[in-house]
This record gives sequence, structure tokens and C-alpha cells, in this order.
Amino acid sequence: MDDFVYAETDPGELARYREEVEAWMNENMPRRDPVNPWHPIQDDDERSSRNRELQRRLYDGGYAAVCYPKEYGGQSLTAAHKQVIDDVSMDFDMPILFSLPTLAICGPTILEFGTEEQKQRYIPAWIKGDELWVQFMSEPSGGSDMAGALTRADRDGDTFIVNGSKIWSTFAQRSDYALMLARTNWDVPKHRGLTMFIVPIHHPDIEIHTIKMVDGTDEFCQEYFNDLMLPAENVLGEVDDGWTVATRLLFHERAAVGNASPYSQGRHRNTSAGGVEDLAAVARDRRGADVGRHRQRLGHLETLGQVEEMLSDRVVKGIEGGFLPAPSGSLVRLFHGLSRAERYTVALEVQGDHALVWNRGESTGAAGLEYLQRQAASIGGGTTEMARNIISERILGMPREPAADRDLPFSQVPRSG
Ligand SMILES: Cc1cc2nc3c(=O)[nH]c(=O)nc-3n(C[C@H](O)[C@H](O)[C@H](O)COP(=O)(O)OP(=O)(O)OC[C@H]3O[C@@H](n4cnc5c(N)ncnc54)[C@H](O)[C@@H]3O)c2cc1C
Repeated sequence: MDDFVYAETDPGELARYREEVEAWMNENMPRRDPVNPWHPIQDDDERSSRNRELQRRLYDGGYAAVCYPKEYGGQSLTAAHKQVIDDVSMDFDMPILFSLPTLAICGPTILEFGTEEQKQRYIPAWIKGDELWVQFMSEPSGGSDMAGALTRADRDGDTFIVNGSKIWSTFAQRSDYALMLARTNWDVPKHRGLTMFIVPIHHPDIEIHTIKMVDGTDEFCQEYFNDLMLPAENVLGEVDDGWTVATRLLFHERAAVGNASPYSQGRHRNTSAGGVEDLAAVARDRRGADVGRHRQRLGHLETLGQVEEMLSDRVVKGIEGGFLPAPSGSLVRLFHGLSRAERYTVALEVQGDHALVWNRGESTGAAGLEYLQRQAASIGGGTTEMARNIISERILGMPREPAADRDLPFSQVPRSG
């Protein structure tokens, strides 16, 4: 697959499309409740089935995954059309679970490397809301060094036998398929002995353990593969060339996290406890000794928000226009990770003890819970340290960091355990 083509779109055509989308959304999609938007404490099974139902509604209306080719259930429209849908849908309840990683990360990777059979089998099922996907990349031994995967897939004729474990997979227990990187060759350097597989998650030879989080939710899972047999037709791309597939998957992930993917779908307005207007109202109500300090901190937050929007816009246009290299998505990713931590920290400061004790449905409570999650955006989708490495090596042209294991056969790489 060539990279997505960002075709020019006639402004009149876009204005007409916006009217059409607005009319359809008003008629068919539920509005988000501004007082009690989605909240981490809400029941996740209910959230998952609601997302499936909403995705189906979008598909039936012709507004699901509009940049995907028509032959697989999309609309073959431009990134500008998708942007219209994202803008209009901000205040509606959108099936955001389908956006990442299913449509915006796994999706373009399958479009790029899948056989025609794989595309026909899997893509329409996401777009219609039938199947959710997840990524099985991180392992208990570490996630930043993805090429150091220890999960093994040993070939036996037309099948592969998988053993090992993956971890931190988001909502695996509520998903249907995963893209998984596993080692198929131990006699070559680490980047050359990996293969990407399509894995049906609810298989008797996969044990899924949910991980209880500090905020009471169970977003993450760890999976154990016990002699899982996968047919060779579940290989995505070439055997032992999984790193090529993984590199593109990471590219799509950075684009999606940096809001630069044509394949993502829907973006909710920030109605969390970290919204600057809400926080300003709280600070005004509580006119205490801290009001001057809060004013400064809220000004800082507002500036961060505006800079993030502008940075994202510039990077998207830079990559589209070819004057910024593709890894520039890491600039947005880094900024987003840092600004979200700052946003949740300021929200907690301003809400004070109201963030610790609240009634269900009160927005102040979200500040306490969100504070517990403040580092998530600095880790998920690759850490901010790894984003800094990419920026220095691939955008600024600094020397690559030394890696003693790069050219050694993987079986000879010393490791603990
Ligand atoms: C919200 C969220 C969702 C996630 N969803 C998924 C998912 O669906 N599927 C999945 O597979 N994983 C998922 N992850 C896991 C995530 O990809 C990993 O946590 C991440 O890649 C880091 O891996 P690690 O936690 O093992 O840390 P490690 O790789 O062990 O790193 C530990 C620390 O060392 C630093 N470090 C490591 N190497 C370098 C280096 N070369 N240079 C500088 N610093 C370095 C890291 O930045 C980090 O601070 C998710 C994580 C979060 C927070």
C-alpha cells in the first residue's frame, strides 16, 4: 500500500458534507452528557457493547471509517472529510474504542501487509462494529525494546506453535483479535527473526488475566500462550520479516496518537475534570488564598492546550506536505504525554480535597481518578523517553544510541532469567 494520499478537497463540497454529517448526527447519534461524560468508573462491559452498537450505526449511515477503501466497507473519502466527521462528532457519543488501536493502528497495518483474503475477512468486520482488535506487543521483560520479544512461534509444517506471554494489552478481554509479534528465528540478529501474527484472542490455549488498576478499573491484561497453534495463513507479511510490519505499525500508532491518522475515527471534546473553563469556575467559587496561584496555573494550562492544537496541526500539514519527515508524529506524542500529566496535576491542585471525596456523577471526582492516570499518556504507545530518542535520531540526525545486541544472533544475546 502506498501511504494514504491527502487529496485536495473542494471547500464547497466540504461545506455541503458538513451540513449532511451534522443533520445525520443530530438525527442518529446520542449526545454526550456534558455533566457526566464517560468516566473510568463506568462499567466496561457496557461500554464495550455500546461502542459496538454505535459503530454499527455509523456504518449503516455511511459515516464509519470513511478513509477506508469502499471495497472493504469504507467510503474512499479524503482526510478532510474525516476531519469534518471528527469536528462535528465531538459532542456526540462516538465509538471511540474502535478508533485505537483497531481502525487507526491495526487497520492500516493490515491494509498495507495483508493478503486480499485477510483484508476481505477482517476489515469489514471492524467497520461494521463486529470485531475489536488489540496489540500484543509488550512483554513482561520490557515494552520499549519491542524487537527483543521473547514470545516464540516455532514452525511445524503449516502451523506455528506459540509459547510465551504478552502484557499491558488494553481491553484484550473485551476484544476479538490481536496483532502479535513473536520470535520465529533465534539464529539471526533480533530485528531479523520476528514474525507478525493475527491471533484469535478467545482461544482455549490462551489464558487471559486481567490486571486490577489503582483506580479500580481493569483496562490491562496479561496473556499466556500455552502451545497455541496458529495456521500459517495467520502470518501478516513475511515470516521472519515481522520487524518491517512492526515498524509500520509503530508509524501508524504515532500518527494516531498525534492525531495525524486518516484512519482514526472521532475525538471527544475534553469534558474531563481537567477542562480549563471548569477549573476556572471552581477556582472562582473557592476564592481562597490560592486564587492568584491558580490563575497562573490555569493560564499555563490554557497555553499548553493551544500550543498542542497548533503543534498537531503543523505536524499533520508538515507530513502531508512532505516538509516534515514521517517520524515527526513523535513531536506531538511527546508534547501530549507531558501536557496531559500537567493538566491532571493542575486539576488536582485546583479541586483540592473535593478531588478525593465526591458523589457519583460529580465532575470533581474525575480529577482524583485522572491524577492516578496522569503518567499513562507518557508510557502508552511508546514512552516519552523513546519519543525523545526518535526526535534526536530521526528528525535531528543525531548519532544512534549504541546497542551491543544489534548484530548478534538473538540466541547469543545475554539476558537475565
Ligand atoms: C495506557 C497504556 C496502554 C497500553 N496499551 C498497550 C497495548 O494495548 N498493547 C501493548 O502491547 N502494550 C501496551 N502498553 C504498554 C506500553 O507499550 C509499554 O508500557 C511501553 O512500551 C513501555 O514498556 P515498559 O512498560 O515495559 O517499560 P520498559 O521498556 O521496561 O522501560 C522502562 C523505562 O526505561 C525507559 N527506557 C527504556 N529503553 C530506553 C531507551 N532506549 N532510551 C531511553 N529510555 C529508555 C522507558 O522510557 C521507561 O521509562 C500500554 C501502556 C499504557 C500506559
